Amino acid sequence: MSVIVAKFGGTSLANAAQFRKVQSIIAANKDRCFVVPSAPGKRTPDDNKITDLLYLCHAHVQQSIAFDEVFNIICERYLEIVAALGLSLDLTPYLKEIKAKITAGASADYVASRGEYLNGLILANLIGYQFVDPGEMVLFNERGILDMEQALKNLKSPLEKAQRAVIPGFYGLLPNGQIKTFSRGGSDITGSLVARSINADLYENWTDVSGFLMADPKVVKNPKPMQKITYRELRELAYMGATVLHEESVFPVRQAGIPINIKNTNDPNHPGTIIVNDAEPQGTITGIAGKKDFTVIAVEKAMMNAELGFGRKLLSILEANAISFEHIPSGIDTMSVVISDSQLNGKLDKILDEIHAQCKPDSLETHPHMALIATVGRGMVYTPGIAAKLFSALAKFNINVRMIDQGSSELNIIVGVQTNDFEKTVQAIYHAFVE
Ligand code: ASP
Repeated sequence: MSVIVAKFGGTSLANAAQFRKVQSIIAANKDRCFVVPSAPGKRTPDDNKITDLLYLCHAHVQQSIAFDEVFNIICERYLEIVAALGLSLDLTPYLKEIKAKITAGASADYVASRGEYLNGLILANLIGYQFVDPGEMVLFNERGILDMEQALKNLKSPLEKAQRAVIPGFYGLLPNGQIKTFSRGGSDITGSLVARSINADLYENWTDVSGFLMADPKVVKNPKPMQKITYRELRELAYMGATVLHEESVFPVRQAGIPINIKNTNDPNHPGTIIVNDAEPQGTITGIAGKKDFTVIAVEKAMMNAELGFGRKLLSILEANAISFEHIPSGIDTMSVVISDSQLNGKLDKILDEIHAQCKPDSLETHPHMALIATVGRGMVYTPGIAAKLFSALAKFNINVRMIDQGSSELNIIVGVQTNDFEKTVQAIYHAFVE
């Protein structure tokens, strides 16, 4: 028998009908021994996620506003699920305790974590698995950073003992005994930790799409699915905006070579996307992803290449202002820094003043409204002609490329274009390589 860890996202557990689908997915394969649920997500596009409602309760208390109305919506959703599933589980004492703690000013992390906690209780009751609270095992340090080694050690023996268990996602414990959550979407990380701790054969991540698509379907019509991708490609694509899986969830399983399978709860027979350490390329490119809202600071100075420490001076200014940068394309007398607008956050003028004062450039320009688009693929490595194909496709669509960056791993080519050329660029690349 092999061991599978199955994590189910919010939409997979949004109501009783979805719980029933999850129940039959688990029943369909006895290897699905460990199950990690998220909190109930949206049932319709304009519905609310339980996690958001819980944060809202906390915010109400902070502002000394009554939160009963919001809390009642949460209670109703859970009680409705329990009733529709015909479970004998009585959630009322749990809900009462949570309400009392919120009233007493419990932390935002505690309040948010209860979404997964309650869903875990329901799911464990429905499928007859043991409930294992990650609060006692997934530990963070004083700075709120996950202690992965400790978490893996702590999870191992209780899970092995339970043999079949439901472990709520998204939270753990700080050294002072307080609940701490991961960043949003963090149940993916819990699933990955569980998979690694028991050395699972497979980590299934069940969501509402059949895996990764080669491009954003809002930009490209009916993009092809990706059947198999590598962890490194996933990391590049996720960093550049492809959202299906939490970025940090890759690390625990990647180290142990446990494959991740992205699956669709609403279409369980679809193979989805498998993420592995290494695989034969299935085409030249694997996927295209991109992000908007970048600014480029372009510095020009004659003989820059001969000036020792110029780059360090420039980058120290960013460091001193707590700004991280994305790329630094450079020429003989020029150096540009690409920075996300969320990092700049009103500090642009201050940085420009400091660059003027410390680097004494001949010219200093800023180019706002830039978008970055990454073309990722293990099939591009050592394949001549890829860049030529990409840039002639962009030229054909009259797209002006403002920046180019290709790492020596040749796993991706990143181009910077004006934000209003973003969609056109993704489409041009997709058509050049895929269709
Ligand atoms: N429920 C949490 C969120 O909405 C965590 C998760 O779904 O993974 O972010």
